[in-house]
Amino acid sequence: MTTLESLKALFEASLTPSPTVITIGLAIVFLVPILVHFLFTAATPYTTLPSVLLIGPSGAGKTALLTLFERGPLYRPDQPPSEKPTVAAPIAQTHTSQVPSAVELSVSSTATDYRTDLDAAGAAARKFLLVDTPGHPKLRRHALARLSAAHPTLTPAAIPGNATATPSGGAETGKSKLKALVFVVDAAALADPDSGALAAAAEYLYEVLLALQRRAQKARGSRAPAAVPVLVAANKLDLFTALPAALVKSQLEGEVGRIRKARSKGLLDSGVGVDDEVGGQGEEADGWLGAYGSEKFSFREMLEFDVEVEVVGGSVLGEGPGADKWWKWIGERV
Ligand code: GDP
Repeated sequence: MTTLESLKALFEASLTPSPTVITIGLAIVFLVPILVHFLFTAATPYTTLPSVLLIGPSGAGKTALLTLFERGPLYRPDQPPSEKPTVAAPIAQTHTSQVPSAVELSVSSTATDYRTDLDAAGAAARKFLLVDTPGHPKLRRHALARLSAAHPTLTPAAIPGNATATPSGGAETGKSKLKALVFVVDAAALADPDSGALAAAAEYLYEVLLALQRRAQKARGSRAPAAVPVLVAANKLDLFTALPAALVKSQLEGEVGRIRKARSKGLLDSGVGVDDEVGGQGEEADGWLGAYGSEKFSFREMLEFDVEVEVVGGSVLGEGPGADKWWKWIGERV
């Protein structure tokens, strides 16, 4: 009886306008929506997903690689070629699409290849976005613009099966932190001196490395952004004409070195860097890739800017070494 009476008194008090009731009412009206908002944004998995960018010239195998990793658990290297999953997946038509495609993938901390059963790995699996970019020279600016930004972000509307990341400048909801770059090259085309593939790949790689270097230079003095390591994936090693990874490395270093020399000559001819010295080496040093003044270019020079470059061979199709080493490299960096 007393409980009923005290409940009744409480109910009446809650309906009687008083400062306490009004304060509690206002608190509920304002705090509940805020709490609900935080609960939902925290539960959205891809707001802070790390991302890995696939970059490189057209025809190198980026789309094929994205598809392979996406379909990983179904892929069996012992399948006859006719039964292997086709690479023309609907999500990844980079040659017809002008925006990057992205897929959400998971890597387990114990997984050494992408065929591991991630359901079994459970909570130990880490999710990340693999983002494909168009290799056509006219469409590269989005990828390059992102790299030179101090805090490169991607804006994915990433849902497995069909996903596109909007190019930079779009409505930015749900940012993703760039963790690594995979620069895919066609090691078979590089072996053919008449194809022009070596010059094309080196030109693009030069631009990519310079963008990462500028980003590091911009960040000096401020809170440095996390370094973005680069994997040069020497693809198509299933083809007997393909160059082995060590040769892909030396050929690319040689060609990037030649481009660097030609560009610095361009800077000198334009008068920049001779009279406009700022801080000792001036703009000439700013536009110089790697260790300033070094004769031969080597990827090791990029460590000066915290950019680790590693060349690893593999294959997406055929009876080659496969893509396990690339997957492992990515897994260690997301
Ligand atoms: P992208 O332009 O870099 O996205 O290149 P694609 O993924 O469209 O691949 C270009 C071509 O190379 C396609 O015909 C693929 O089937 C082929 N390709 C990709 N990876 C391999 C590989 O490891 N070995 C061989 N032999 N062909 C490959």
